[in-house]
Amino acid sequence: MSAAPPNQARAGELRRLLQRAAHAYYVLDAPEMEDSVYDRLYRELLELEAAQPELITPDSPSQRVGRAPAEGFSSVEHRIGLLSLDNAFNPGDLEAWYGRLLKVLDREPATPLEMVGELKIDGNALALSYEHGLLVQAATRGDGERGEQITANVRTIASVPLRLQLENPPAWVEVRGEALIPDDTFAAINAERAARGETLFANPRNACAGTLRQLDPKVVAARRLDFFAYTLHLPQDTPQGPSSQWQSLQWLQAAGFKVNPNAKLLPNLAAVQAFFRAWDTGRRALPYATDGVVVKLNDLRLQDAAGFTQKAPRWAIALKYAAEEAPSILLRLACQVGRTGVVTPVAEFEPVPLAGTTVSRATLHNADRLAELDLHAGDTIVVRKAGEIIPEVVRVLSELRPPGAARLELPQVCPECGSELVREEGEAATRCVNSSCPAILRGALRHWVSKGALDVDGLGAKLIEQLVDRGLVGSIADLYGLDAALLASLERMGTKSADNLVVALAASKQQPWHRQLYGLGIHHVGEVNAKALAKAFPSAADLATAAVNTPESITAVFGIGAEIAQSLQQWFATPANQLLLEDLERLGFSLAAGPEEPGAGPETPLTGQTFVLTGSLPSLSRSAAQALIEAAGGKVSGSVSKKTSYVVAGEEAGSKLSKAQSLGVPVLDEAGLKSLLPAKIATESN
Ligand SMILES: [Zn+2]
Repeated sequence: MSAAPPNQARAGELRRLLQRAAHAYYVLDAPEMEDSVYDRLYRELLELEAAQPELITPDSPSQRVGRAPAEGFSSVEHRIGLLSLDNAFNPGDLEAWYGRLLKVLDREPATPLEMVGELKIDGNALALSYEHGLLVQAATRGDGERGEQITANVRTIASVPLRLQLENPPAWVEVRGEALIPDDTFAAINAERAARGETLFANPRNACAGTLRQLDPKVVAARRLDFFAYTLHLPQDTPQGPSSQWQSLQWLQAAGFKVNPNAKLLPNLAAVQAFFRAWDTGRRALPYATDGVVVKLNDLRLQDAAGFTQKAPRWAIALKYAAEEAPSILLRLACQVGRTGVVTPVAEFEPVPLAGTTVSRATLHNADRLAELDLHAGDTIVVRKAGEIIPEVVRVLSELRPPGAARLELPQVCPECGSELVREEGEAATRCVNSSCPAILRGALRHWVSKGALDVDGLGAKLIEQLVDRGLVGSIADLYGLDAALLASLERMGTKSADNLVVALAASKQQPWHRQLYGLGIHHVGEVNAKALAKAFPSAADLATAAVNTPESITAVFGIGAEIAQSLQQWFATPANQLLLEDLERLGFSLAAGPEEPGAGPETPLTGQTFVLTGSLPSLSRSAAQALIEAAGGKVSGSVSKKTSYVVAGEEAGSKLSKAQSLGVPVLDEAGLKSLLPAKIATESN
């Protein structure tokens, strides 16, 4: 190692440090590095790799988001087939399965068999192949024999290790597990889609499946998938390989995978039944969707002895919870026109209690889904709601259809403005394209004042409706011309609330640039993308120039794909939008990053970071190092604790260094310290 050229050694250190930080954050859920520090070290690695591409290794964190596969996904054969499991829905099914297992293993009826209980996560099964420790392939389940090769997308999942954390990894390892989208991420994705006027995903599993098949790995990266590993296959001759499913889970954890913490060793059938019952209610508190539990025989030799039926292993079973479905009678087909003109059909039905709430409306997503369901007036429908998930119409009981009932279809014209609806070739969405459609204007205004955008208190949907219906507001900018007296004259408004609203609107002009950008409601530009864009392009003028002239500088931003660049280009090229920006600027909006925002002004990337200095550094005195850290917003402390962000160690470092190592506090040398500092401060020190 000591013979390695300095850049190679530095790149290796950075990779290890960044991998450890990512593992702590994504797998252990115990962050140990500030985002800003991670970003800086990551950038340093990117710079080294850009200057010397031979330094790039396949497990470098920079290789998580790669290029899109040229022609979709190829099909691959699984090394070991992915069989589905037999299902059990009640204690009787479970007992019958256990009885068969005892018989096949030639055990006495009363023998306890040790099992492992695991949650059945409602995601998408993946097969990951590692060779000599490196992730070489990831595939979907497919038909169990062949799946789709989606390696580039799976590499973006931060909880999937690109390299196994093992000293001597076996020649190959096959890991099975479930990719998933947690409920809050799912809600955020759907909220963003709603804000952008796109159709919503029905549930996290659909969102996850759709994401895994995205052609652009950047889009996948932005969706923040997670992964729980649960099955391990090793070569037969692996020395000291696990001898039980429980040990396999521990092996996976040690190799750097996230293993679901709720797995449990179950000594007998009664324990299995208790596990199943407990999670029927317990699962509602989990941050992700589950639809049952999986029970596996723990001893791998016994698994072998039990073997397989034609289509499933005998040694495992999926115990499923009853789906939360209920019948209801369809009352009406309603249509919602969103901010971008997308028309969403909504079923309104007789209220039914479902998963703890009363439900009377469910989205039908789009015209295709509506046609597929073949809804007729007065139909008896089956509605489903799983946990926090939005209700949906699952199917129609057409045998109960009233005779002569009319088939329901989307209207031809916009229910709001009467203009003809448009459906473009290849698009699922039907839209109203009249830009002065009141529904679109109302949506744009609601979005502008919403929490993640300009966050204007006291301007609710009802008031916006009045303002638009009375022709008082025809654009976002018009909001800022409203006076208190006029507002006070509106329904359900008083002098006080009118005064407050005028103040709130004026105050909203101070909101940061990324919120203004998000508030504009540009197609595909949700909160996350708006932040990334605002950081890279510190003003509307910069962003407009880039969107029109150099779209490649936009797609170079992490998480930003070609469709977003295209949408920005269209938006900035539209004259009405240019007028809006001019109006906003005249009203006092900066449309640019302020001095305290990232991307401008004095840089203080070390804010909140604590450093401990030990030993003598090659060029900096102790007080000079301290001054540099403080200039960048960091603090210097005299003693090492778990809260210490970094120990900066030089020659003859003493007990502080060993303490840092024992606590797992990252250790930097002088060059490492300088790499954390903003360029300006770092060069001043030379
Ligand atoms: Zn319309």
